[in-house]
Amino acid sequence: MRRKWVGGNWKMHGSRALASSLAGAVVDADIADVDIVLFPPFPYLREACAACAGSRVAVGGQDLSEHESGAFTGEVSAAMLRDVGCGAVLAGHSERRRYHHEADAQVAAKVACAMDHALLPVLCVGESLEEREAGRTAEVVSRQLGAVVERCGIAAFERIVVAYEPVWAIGTGRTASPGQAQEVHALLRSQLARDDARIAGSTRIVYGGSVKPGNAADLFAQTDIDGGLIGGAALQATDFLAICAAAR
Ligand code: PEP
Repeated sequence: MRRKWVGGNWKMHGSRALASSLAGAVVDADIADVDIVLFPPFPYLREACAACAGSRVAVGGQDLSEHESGAFTGEVSAAMLRDVGCGAVLAGHSERRRYHHEADAQVAAKVACAMDHALLPVLCVGESLEEREAGRTAEVVSRQLGAVVERCGIAAFERIVVAYEPVWAIGTGRTASPGQAQEVHALLRSQLARDDARIAGSTRIVYGGSVKPGNAADLFAQTDIDGGLIGGAALQATDFLAICAAAR
């Protein structure tokens, strides 16, 4: 039985005050039986970590450098994320792949770096609308997942959360149907199972893309959907908490 996981990606939104109040509201709700991680913008990690200290809610970075340290202006290392209290980090979010041209090998290096520093990597994969319409969904997500298997090894997937986030569903209000999402989740799991069936059975694969309180339960009820990575709805405590409750 895989434990459900829900992440709240605040993207480039909020303020110190919002970070404290939003994280505080999630902590106060004290939702059991679901692993919850909040991903605030870097400058607000401190507020979120302070609000979540001693609770069952964890905090993560939205990205990390694949380098340990050095002359990489603007970058944030895995060690720095650990140092401020993070327990997790997103790697390969489609907005990083698209606007910052992050390639599969770079994303895999970021996952490896996160693991070296005991951060839970949340590996994001997903196809664009163009790729889906061209019938290339399986090829694209398999390639993205395969790059991390190749770099980190299958055993690493005991400590990686995979987030399937079709690019056409992120922030668009257009959610993949539960059936469409389940199909890709099953495919990702069977790809892992080719290397190790036991690990594939325990890897959490969560869905992201316009998840709302109204569609969360149907998505999370699918056999291979182990929770969600939430963007827009994570900025409203009531919506986010309703989604977390749907994952229980
Ligand atoms: C995301 O940013 O990862 C995301 C899934 O966003 P949204 O829920 O707004 O589609």
